[in-house]
Amino acid sequence: MPHSLTTLASDLDGTLLPSAENDTHKSDLVTVKSLIERHSLNLLYVTGRSPQLLEEAISQGGLPRPTMAVCDVGSTLLEPDGGVGFNPVDSYEHTLSRIVGDFSADSVRSLCKELPGIRPQEQHKQAPFKVSFYCEGHELPVRAQLISERLAEWRAPWRVVASRDPETNTGLLDLLPTGVSKAFALSWWCQQQSLSLTSVAFAGDSGNDLAALTCGCRAIVVGNADPQTREAVISATPPDQHYIATRTATSGVLEGLQHWLAD
Ligand SMILES: [Mg+2]
Repeated sequence: MPHSLTTLASDLDGTLLPSAENDTHKSDLVTVKSLIERHSLNLLYVTGRSPQLLEEAISQGGLPRPTMAVCDVGSTLLEPDGGVGFNPVDSYEHTLSRIVGDFSADSVRSLCKELPGIRPQEQHKQAPFKVSFYCEGHELPVRAQLISERLAEWRAPWRVVASRDPETNTGLLDLLPTGVSKAFALSWWCQQQSLSLTSVAFAGDSGNDLAALTCGCRAIVVGNADPQTREAVISATPPDQHYIATRTATSGVLEGLQHWLAD
């Protein structure tokens, strides 16, 4: 007997966030909000965005205030401050501090300063447990490899996550504490709340959602998801653990939420 649904967790860009010109997305967001209220669900945002860009998405997209928010690809956990802002969750920071030990983000940043072909991203893209660099898009694999080798040499408990900005073809290199991801943050929060992952529906659309889509939650893959992510979820999880929506973004989240509420 599956646990009844307690929580909707969702990526924002390409997933819950309505497209600016799509009126169906906007009206479906209203329905999502009313289902969350009617079923007293927790609402978690799980995003690569920084806390500042999260707040912009909430105000520009007309999103409801969440129960919690995971930012910076899993390296920051925020709780609402009672007003319109958020505070970092101390106990999550302590967990990440224990993983990195003596290797703070600042020390990793300064060790990497010597490495060729990478430059630090802007200050607002750095976080207490995330160190981010740019490189030339065509050099991405070699730069990621070099950082990985150096992290191993230094015995620094950090790993590199490489991705490419499809619009500018810039290489993006995010260094995160070993094991930290959107799925790590979501599982950590569930454990704190004594909630089973099977009582959580998680919606996503791209590669950095894959770990969370396959970590034991009830997955919702939105209709605009990239095909590799969709196929990876289908092959990594049993059929009763994923829902492949036909509609896009907000509308796909609504479709999946209705499916899991009826389950
Ligand atoms: Mg996304």
